[in-house]
Formats: sequence, structure tokens, C-alpha cells
Amino acid sequence: MAEHGIASKSVAILAQQTSTSDAELLRLQVSAFQRQIPLMYAVICANAIGLGWTHLNVAPFLLAVAVPAALILASLFRLWLWWRVRYEPMTTERARRALRSTHAFALLLGASFVLWSLLLAPLGNAFQQMHVAIFMGLSSFACAVCLMHVRTASLLLLSVALVPFTGFYISSGNPVLVAVAINIALVAILVIIVQNRYFRDFQELAHSRTEARRLHGDMAELAQVDSLTKLANRRAFFKHLDGTLESAGKLGKRVSLGLVDLDGFKQINDLYGHRAGDTILAEASKRMLETLGPDVFVARLGGDEFGLIFSDGANDAELRSRGLALCLALRASYELGQGSGQAGASLGFASFPDGAKTAEELYECADYALYRVKTEAAGTAEIFTAAHSGNRRKLSLIEQRLRAPDIAEELSVEFQPIIDLETGAVVAAEALARWEHPELGNVPPDIFIRAAERSGTICSITQILFAKALKSRASWPEGVTLSFNLSVHDLVTPNASAKLLEIAKSCVVPPKALQFEITETALLKDFEKARRSIEALKAAGYTIALDDFGCGYSSLQYLHSLPIDRIKVDRSFTSGLVAGGAGRNIIATIVDLSHSLGMDCVIEGVELWEQCDLIGRMGCRFAQGHYFSKALPAQQFLEFLATANSKRRYRVASNLRLVQG
Ligand code: C2E
Ligand code: CA
Ligand code: CA
Repeated sequence: MAEHGIASKSVAILAQQTSTSDAELLRLQVSAFQRQIPLMYAVICANAIGLGWTHLNVAPFLLAVAVPAALILASLFRLWLWWRVRYEPMTTERARRALRSTHAFALLLGASFVLWSLLLAPLGNAFQQMHVAIFMGLSSFACAVCLMHVRTASLLLLSVALVPFTGFYISSGNPVLVAVAINIALVAILVIIVQNRYFRDFQELAHSRTEARRLHGDMAELAQVDSLTKLANRRAFFKHLDGTLESAGKLGKRVSLGLVDLDGFKQINDLYGHRAGDTILAEASKRMLETLGPDVFVARLGGDEFGLIFSDGANDAELRSRGLALCLALRASYELGQGSGQAGASLGFASFPDGAKTAEELYECADYALYRVKTEAAGTAEIFTAAHSGNRRKLSLIEQRLRAPDIAEELSVEFQPIIDLETGAVVAAEALARWEHPELGNVPPDIFIRAAERSGTICSITQILFAKALKSRASWPEGVTLSFNLSVHDLVTPNASAKLLEIAKSCVVPPKALQFEITETALLKDFEKARRSIEALKAAGYTIALDDFGCGYSSLQYLHSLPIDRIKVDRSFTSGLVAGGAGRNIIATIVDLSHSLGMDCVIEGVELWEQCDLIGRMGCRFAQGHYFSKALPAQQFLEFLATANSKRRYRVASNLRLVQG
């Protein structure tokens, strides 16, 4: 059944290709013939004038002047008909009509000329009679050559003209005329054979030209379409955007660009495999087309990023409501074969001409709006406004300054102690990046680290910070571990983690005294690459901590499949600790979980004695936060380590007492 379906489909395709090829042949035939028409009629008219002129004294006026004049007028009329339409595109329909009329004229004019010649043939002396034979033979061959591309018309003309003519001469009984007739007939056969061969080559050429055109069309389509989702691709998107902005500029219309990013897509890809990822992308594309309708141009820009072009002049309120409707549609669960999966979507909008003036600027503004929405309210839509432009400019200034050759001099590292609640001792310190720029001032690390990630400078920034942190670590007591934050890119960029290992090995720091903090977002970006890097760091003997645990897409799978030694609980849970309720339960659950997995647990953001007290009771051994100390510059941290802070020790000891009591 299926085979039958495929067979009939291929027959249909073949038929369609054949008819396309036939139509192309037809157009080529007529176009080629069209070029020969003036020449053909010029020869006919000149020959007719010549024949009429040589018979002026032997033929009546009607035959010597009136008939040739009428035939020449008919020829000129036909020439004019062609001339009129010479610039019109050669459509299949036009070619078909032209072919029909060419056959009709070949028949009519051929018959008229032969009739005229046959009436002149018996008149005059032998030279004049011979002129008629030459006129008929040469004019017919000239027309046949000009009609070479329209083989049937050429054959028609040769048979209409030469069959009665040679018949007439052969039947005259005059041996010279019979010989001439036979000569003409032989040449006519030769012309027909050569013409046949030529026409076959022409047919093949037309066919290969059609095939080449079809292939070119397919290639052009492939270059514009995303093969998975069948949506327009990045190239087609920007081409369409340029065109839309150009006409909107002339008409004074508003155009909005939307960028959609699927939240949690990578996680599904990693957990369920690429096929599931493909299913989500295809289904998400379908939902976008259905939700947005035919007026919005939708394209896949790459990975899980989609672009939308609203050229209907929608205002901000409309954009927001349509954007939120889209986010909602994309959030509904996806059927993945082996179960269902969940992914969200965030959307950033920017509009022309109010937000941005060029296609690049429009894209960058929408990208900034998307970046904002992803960091502040993932799963919703944000519109780029005038208020954003200042921030965007500042961000691009930051990105630019991060590339400065003397950036290493402006960067420094501070250290925040991590306390062992059982002994009150500082067991480790987290290295936290600081950037003091002469113009921009003190730029907070979460801002500039993200800016470096966006602009692709993060790996070199990490290397600078790491070398500085290791240099400070060299003067610490042996038992104090350096905990260093890695970015997503340090784990997934080729050779980046190898470079860090190289830096670490060049300093004399025992592996036990070095810990790397990685975040879950790093794992989401590209789980396989991140896993390989983490395993390489672990194999070199370093400790791995999973940072900001509890935020984002916490998954037990990560804890199981990676060599993680420690988890750091995000400080957002610590603030809710004393107030009771969810915060306390979450921390208690995470502490239990870490113990059952044989991992250590560090609670971040401890600011109050009560929080310290509570986490101690929960059985958590390590803590970090302003209660103990803020991040300190290298020298101050050394002093902190050296000073016996009795109050701090008492508090911790008291905490211990409470735990034991
Ligand atoms: P993080 O890794 O979670 O670092 C802890 C942040 O919490 C630090 O902020 C620290 O100063 C702050 N903090 C510690 N204790 C308390 C407390 O008791 N209360 C409050 N309110 N905050 C506390 P900081 O230094 O501003 O760093 C922010 C983020 O920037 C870091 O979060 C980390 O994600 C990133 N970052 C900092 N340095 C680096 C670095 O060298 N490399 C990378 N990749 N990221 C870094
Ligand atoms: Ca950290
Ligand atoms: Ca953290």
C-alpha cells in the first residue's frame, strides 16, 4: 500500500517534471525562433521582389506585382505581430500561442508562395523558368533553416512548398527540370535529417537547462529554510527583516522584532536525548505559527532561538499580550514518545523606529530585552524601552572595556571565609572577582562576569582571576582551601579547562587545597562537554562544589552522574531560615540529601547568629556569609586568618554547645 503510494507519488512527480521540462522546451523553441524571424522575412521579401521583377515583362500585372506585393504585405504584417511582443516575457501560454500561429502561417504562406510560383513557372524563357525553381528551392531552405527550432513547422513548410513543386517539375517531362526537382528533393531530405539531429541536441540542452534550474531552485530553498522545523532560517530572517524595514521606513510604519529563547531546552536534550530535543523544536515551531497567525514572520535563528517579525504595526500593549500568549502556549507540556517534557520560553521585543533604527540595532535591542527577561523574569516577555537604552549602552561599554589590554591590572580577587561550624576554624575561602575601572568605577561581579560571558571574553578573564587567586593562596596556611568560581564557558569551551589545569599545575598548590565551584546553568548549557571538563578537573585531584544549589533546574541526575564533593546552598534560602516555613524545610531537605549522597554541604549567605544556630542544629557543618566576614582583599584576609577572633570562636562554640545540647 505504502509502496503503491510512493510509486504513484513518484509517477506524479515524474509527470510534473516532464511537463515542466516540456514547457521549458516550448519556451526555448519559440525564443530561439523569434530571433530568426526578421532574417527569414527579409529573405522571403527580397526573393519575392526579385522574382516579380524578372517576370514583369512576361507575366500579367496581377502575377508580377499584385500577388507578390500582397504576399510581402502579409509577411510584413506577420513580422509586425512578432515585433510588437518582442519584450514580453516568454510564458508557456505565450509560447503555445506563438507556436500555433507559426504553424498556421507556415502552412498559409508556404501554400501561397508555391501557388504563385507554380503560376509563374510556365511563363517566360528557360532562364526565367529556372529562376522560379531557384526561388522556390532557396526560399524554402532558408525558411526551413530559420525554423530549425520549430521542427514541425519547418517540416510542414518543406512539404507544403516542395512536394507540389517537385511534383510539378517532374511531371513537366523536361529532363533539366526533372533533374532540378530531384536535386531540390535530395537537398530537402538532407536538410530534414540534419535538422532532426540538431533538434534532438536542442531538446537535450533544454532538458538539462530545466534540470539545472530545478536544482538551483532546490538549493536556493535549502539555503533559506531550516531543515528541522521547515521555518525560515537565520539568513532568510535577516533578508526579510531588511526588506520589511526598508518598506516600513518609506511608509512610516512600525515593525517589531521578537526573540524567543526556550527555557530548559538543553536540559531536555541532555536528559531525553537529541531526538526529544528535535521533537520539542518542531512542536514549538508549530505552536508559534498557530499562536501568532500568518501575519507574523517566524524563523529559527539557531539552537533554541527563534526570531519573529511583526510588520502589522502592533503597539507595545499588543506585543506584550501576544508575547505572553506565546509564552503560555510554549509552556504547555510536550509529548516526547518516552513521556512528556516541559519547557518554557522567554521573549524579548524591540521596535522600529522608536527603539532602533537599523536591523542590527533592532536585533541587539531585542536581544538585550531577552537577556533582561531571562535574568529577571524567565518565562515572560519584555519590551525594549527607552529606559533600557542607557543600560544597554553601559553593558556594551562594559563588554568593550573588558577587552582592554590592561584589564588584568584592573581586576582583583577578594576572599570570603568558609567556616567549619564544628571547630570554628576557617577551612576555605571563596575567591570573588572585583573590577575597579577608572571611568566605570566598581562594577559588580555578577554584571561584568555575565557581560564577559555574553561577549566571549570570559575564559581569559577567568584565567587572569585564577592566576591572581592562586598567587594569594601561596601565602595561606596549608589547611585552607581556595574555592574558585568557574563560568559555564570555562567548562564547555574547548581547551579552557585544560588551560586552567595548566595554570594550577604551574603553582605549587596541593590538589586538596583547591576547589572549583560550578553552577547548574553550566551543566545545562552542554551537559556532555561540561561533564568531561569536570571529570578532568576531578581526575587531577581537585574538589568540585555545585554552587547556588536549589536555584534553577536542580536535578538529582546531576548529583548522581557527576563527581561532586560538595553542594553550596544558595543564599536566597538562608534568608527565609529564621522566619520558618518553606526556607527552613528546603534547607533541611538539602542537608539530608547531601548527607545521604555522602557530600558536604555549605550554607551561603549566613548573616545572623540565629541562622548559624539553626543550620548547626540541622547538622550542616560548613557556612559562609557576612555573619563571619564579607569578602576581604588578599592582605586583610591573611590578617583575618591570623587574628584569633575570640568573639567569633565563642559564637561558634556556643553553636556547638547548642547542637550537642
Ligand atoms: P556566588 O558564587 O554565589 O558568590 C557569593 C556571593 O554572595 C558573593 O557576591 C558574596 O559577596 C555574596 N555573599 C556572601 N555572603 C553573603 C551574605 O551573608 N549576604 C549577602 N547578601 N551576600 C553574601 P559577589 O561577590 O557580588 O558575587 C556575585 C556573583 O558573581 C557570585 O555569586 C558569582 O556567581 C559571580 N562571581 C564572583 N566572582 C566570580 C569569579 O571569579 N568567577 C565567576 N565565574 N563568577 C564570579
Ligand atoms: Ca560561588
Ligand atoms: Ca553561590
